[in-house]
Amino acid sequence: CGIVACRMDEAAGPFLIDALKLLEYRGYDSAGVAIRTLDGTMASSRTTNRVETLERQLDEWAGPALSGTGIGHTRWATHGAVTESNAHPHADCRQRVSIVHNGIIENSDALRRQLEQTGHLFASEVDSEVVSHLIEEELLITGDLRSAVTAATLRLHGSWAIVALDAETGRMVAAAHRSPLLVARSARGVFAASDINAIAEFVDEFQAMTDGDVVELGEEFVWTRSGAHSAAPAYATSNWSGV
Ligand code: GLU
Repeated sequence: CGIVACRMDEAAGPFLIDALKLLEYRGYDSAGVAIRTLDGTMASSRTTNRVETLERQLDEWAGPALSGTGIGHTRWATHGAVTESNAHPHADCRQRVSIVHNGIIENSDALRRQLEQTGHLFASEVDSEVVSHLIEEELLITGDLRSAVTAATLRLHGSWAIVALDAETGRMVAAAHRSPLLVARSARGVFAASDINAIAEFVDEFQAMTDGDVVELGEEFVWTRSGAHSAAPAYATSNWSGV
């Protein structure tokens, strides 16, 4: 339903909570955040209650200090009951990659069976969880999150706006196909969201992703386009719009 993501020098928690609150009007049945710790692990919190519950859980966080890099989601369930374990973000087996996803992965049953045959253990009933495991598998081969997300999305059918965060390296990559997602920037950092209203206060300019785009949210934005899902052959990087 709703996605927000940030990489900032300031704490990610307050940004993610504020942005998720601005998405609440769209409706949701559960919500969650994952924030990279300064130790290179992931702190995550999910709830079937309101976003305020996440805020309280983050205030009580007693683990390693949290960084400025994180992802957040409000869920409107399509596959799997409304439970905390079905709420996003979803992680891989190693708790290294966390993802948030909007949309529907139409071939998730087949992908889940293939992944289970190669030893992946699933923690939820949600179609979206195949995405974190596919990225995990590809990351073992390439060691590069952007290539891994590109390769993973080539195996998906359906619709998606995805942001993936690697706790180990802190790298963050967005991908979109038939589901709205935009990337944005300002002096405060780089951002992604499914709706500009969620992040408008933090950003100066943004651009909408188009079908097949995979974008690394680093110091710079690095774009690739996965051919099979592509709407256009090359990306014009001058498409920034002011907020
Ligand atoms: N299909 C996913 C789920 O059921 C994502 C739903 C959404 O877009 O919120 O969790």
